[in-house]
Amino acid sequence: MHMGADCHHADGAHPGLKGPELRHALGAAELHCAATQERLTAPRRRVLELLLESHAPQKAYDLIAAFGAQGAPAKPPTVYRALEFLERLGFAHRIESLNAYVPCRIHGNEHRAAFLICDCCGAAEEFEPDFTAQLASAATAGYAVQSITLEARGRCPACQAE
Ligand SMILES: [Zn+2]
Ligand SMILES: [Zn+2]
Ligand SMILES: [Zn+2]
Repeated sequence: MHMGADCHHADGAHPGLKGPELRHALGAAELHCAATQERLTAPRRRVLELLLESHAPQKAYDLIAAFGAQGAPAKPPTVYRALEFLERLGFAHRIESLNAYVPCRIHGNEHRAAFLICDCCGAAEEFEPDFTAQLASAATAGYAVQSITLEARGRCPACQAE
């Protein structure tokens, strides 16, 4: 996803994984699934692969279009179900403000995810937020918080240097 007409390094800020790195990440996902009695079926694996290969967040329809690039095309529900699975296991996150998906860069267990989003090249950097102060204020106000979303917009280091 390229957002800025003048950005010349849409692929450079956050290159996707390929080759051994990509195989390693997919292998780690398979091990994690096996350890938790879940199955990384072929469609789930393919959608995760597409996310890992991408340099920027991917919309579901991008994934549906790319899915069949090597082999059989996917029906949209197949891709949506695969995304639900990947989100549930913490392999992927949905960035609400973009309605797009990224692979988890921290991975492993359940965690809160927050994102730094570059408005120029479209890169999204995941970080683990510390919401201690917000949760304390919410508790003081009597709220039981279910979720907090933090998506910060701006420019990545590469785009600031442009
Ligand atoms: Zn840029
Ligand atoms: Zn994550
Ligand atoms: Zn950027």
